[in-house]
Amino acid sequence: MQLHSTRNPLDHKTFRQAMVANLAGDGGLYAPDLPRFADWDALLALPWPDLAVELIQRLIGDEFGSEPLQVAVRDAFSFPVPLRQVEPDRWCLELHAGPTLAFKDFGARLLARLLRLHDGEGAQRTILTATSGDTGAAVAQAFWHVPGMRAVVLYPAGRVSSQQERQFATLGDNVQALAVAGSFDDCQTLVKACFADAELSRRHGLTSANSINIARILAQLCYFPLVVAQLRQQGETRAPLICVPSGNFGNLCAALYAQALGLPLAGLVAACNANTTVPDYLNGQAYRTRPSVATLSNAMDVGAPSNWERIDHLLGGQAGAQAALRWGWASDDDTRNEIMRLFAIGQLVDPHAAVASAVLRRVQRPGEVGVFLATAHPAKFPEELERLTGRRLELPPELAQLAQRPLLSEPLAVSVEVLRVVLNRG
Ligand SMILES: *Cc1c(COP(=O)(O)O)cnc(C)c1O
Repeated sequence: MQLHSTRNPLDHKTFRQAMVANLAGDGGLYAPDLPRFADWDALLALPWPDLAVELIQRLIGDEFGSEPLQVAVRDAFSFPVPLRQVEPDRWCLELHAGPTLAFKDFGARLLARLLRLHDGEGAQRTILTATSGDTGAAVAQAFWHVPGMRAVVLYPAGRVSSQQERQFATLGDNVQALAVAGSFDDCQTLVKACFADAELSRRHGLTSANSINIARILAQLCYFPLVVAQLRQQGETRAPLICVPSGNFGNLCAALYAQALGLPLAGLVAACNANTTVPDYLNGQAYRTRPSVATLSNAMDVGAPSNWERIDHLLGGQAGAQAALRWGWASDDDTRNEIMRLFAIGQLVDPHAAVASAVLRRVQRPGEVGVFLATAHPAKFPEELERLTGRRLELPPELAQLAQRPLLSEPLAVSVEVLRVVLNRG
């Protein structure tokens, strides 16, 4: 795979180089040069995870060797990814059957395995990540107890659900959780400042696990074809309109890359909560990042979405993005109403999926088949869902076993100097 910086077409990298470099030296993101596959009918007939193995092998090429890469992909994607019909002409892809019950498991698990392949034995690396809720859990669990790896997770104190916090702040060993006295954007700014510090980066082998990492995007690209494959198995041959609940826009970027590979789609929808940086831009305003606001769909509370630069680059700026996408946003009231509407027809969804479902219904045209992504398990948000539905939620075993463990996180001020001290402490 050949990649180039979104800010400099002459800055070329291989997949392995881009995976460990995180950001380009000029501050750009690495964007892949994508082929167009001519044999989608054959690809879509492959069972999962063979489909993912085939896609990733074709895209990465022989950078890791075929056998190790195949093992890494199968091992990373070892859980089911069901497509469920929610109502007439509307389906939901459940991406939350992995160990931390959110779609971030796809990217984090593949990244952990590819980094291990890249490094071999004996290397030391610090995975530094900012989380709005689910990345921290997925990254912490993917790297927990992996020799030579330390995972440091920064999260906005008091702004993630207690279930989410337990998933990364109770692990210990090589996982360090830092409760930042600020927003997710503050966490992201701190992480970026550390990566910009060449000396610090080199000393600790700092590596990003955030959605700017190309390995995560590549992992997520695989389940968009799986939507089309499963629809065909159900006798639904129309190309779907897929709605992606978005925060940092890694997932939508992956969807657009799948479409660029030639995957037949009717379209893609960017769905946001009250953090409307991207919907406002698509509505014709100038691109303006802003502080994030807290919502029910907290993993999407992002005011400065770091992957938008990749999408803008791919689609050729504002006019291109307006032509290529549909979009919308849902307030917390819209989100609650959609949870209740779906609950009334026997469907329980988490707040992120509810945002996507609400926006999909607004932009889906008659005669189209629509699919929204369910990015997190409803049980990760028990307080809100129990209050709304009046029904007690059964905690899945992955969450129940964490309930007794003490929180091990340390408070952190929004200060790069303090974070540097924490990193250097070991
Ligand atoms: C991270 C996350 C999102 C947003 O995904 P992006 O790739 O950052 O746009 C949506 N839903 C859930 C549950 C998440 O954890």
